[in-house]
Amino acid sequence: MSNEHAFREMFKYFGEAVTPEEYDLRSGPDGPKHDFMKLPTMIMDQVTKPLAKATNSYGTRFEYFCGIVLRPERSAVVGQKNGVFCIGIYQGLLLSILELSYWLFRSPRFLSDVGAASRMTQGPPTDHASIPGGIWQHRVANGLPHFSEDLFDVPCEIRNGSAIQLMIEMVSFVVMHELAHIVCGHVGYYENVLGASYIAEIDPRRDQGTSKEQIIQRAFEHDADLNAAKNTIETNVFKYLIFQGKNAALLRRLKLIAPYLVLHLFIPNWFIRAARFEPDTTHPEPYKRAYALRKLMRTHPGMPEFRSELVQESLARDLGGFASALADPSLLIANSEFAEQLWGAEVDEEYGLARDATSVAVPYGFSTGAVAHNRKKPSAPDT
Ligand SMILES: [Zn+2]
Repeated sequence: MSNEHAFREMFKYFGEAVTPEEYDLRSGPDGPKHDFMKLPTMIMDQVTKPLAKATNSYGTRFEYFCGIVLRPERSAVVGQKNGVFCIGIYQGLLLSILELSYWLFRSPRFLSDVGAASRMTQGPPTDHASIPGGIWQHRVANGLPHFSEDLFDVPCEIRNGSAIQLMIEMVSFVVMHELAHIVCGHVGYYENVLGASYIAEIDPRRDQGTSKEQIIQRAFEHDADLNAAKNTIETNVFKYLIFQGKNAALLRRLKLIAPYLVLHLFIPNWFIRAARFEPDTTHPEPYKRAYALRKLMRTHPGMPEFRSELVQESLARDLGGFASALADPSLLIANSEFAEQLWGAEVDEEYGLARDATSVAVPYGFSTGAVAHNRKKPSAPDT
């Protein structure tokens, strides 16, 4: 059985799963080429190089396939089928990332010191039904093409290049997050303890496992977030033109903010489910994830440079610029308390438990030093 076949079998339940090449074919020989749809596969190919010969404790080789699930939600899923780890990035998540990156760099308030920000016009208009990252869904519902032509018209080379680079970093964070679920052993834990073959980032299942097992599942998300943020920041998978050999500081800022923008994309769905009293018991609320990630960046032994006040101030400023670029942040977050929680106030989160969860999961993980940064028990002193 080929990896690609395992991938299709794996995601039958979720929807139609396609390769990036198939996605392109759908637009016809003269249609638009969706290079960004190839990004997850390209990034996965690059970042799994150290795993090429790795085996897990069962002696199974690391085999994987990464493709697209043709669904409109902003989600991703990782699972195992016949020894192949399959990652499916939803079309809706990729389109949302593309839109949000360009929308933000069209705003004069986002990273206002980068390029000719003052020449920017605010991104395409938004309303209650269509917030940045979700305007395309509103357009499709009204019979329009996914994106307005002017979305990609960023009249500044630096800001245009930054939009492309930010998109790459956001996709990178998503791919690294799913990869972390594999190499940290989370997929194995699901399989062995919960009898489930996949982890879905928007999980239709509720009340899976005991309450302790649910806490462990949520802790896995924090672990995968930290792992993915660290790998995104420290790995240059692809650098867009303007970042070749220069603009290192700007590149670093984009890498720092990318994980938070991805987590932000999960908020609307989380809020809809919370309003229906159907919470996702397998994932922490996105703002808790964002908060935990900021806290970890400041304290994790493996990320000493992020304890720097300058880096923290820069991140806070850029996240603030992101919030102010939105015409009305309360529309986006649907809850004004959210901003306070995300950008500053302490929230009660479960991160401490993640440490135990990691050690629970590790025996099923693959052996690699290159991508699994928190495989060692992080409660151990930093020596
Ligand atoms: Zn996850």
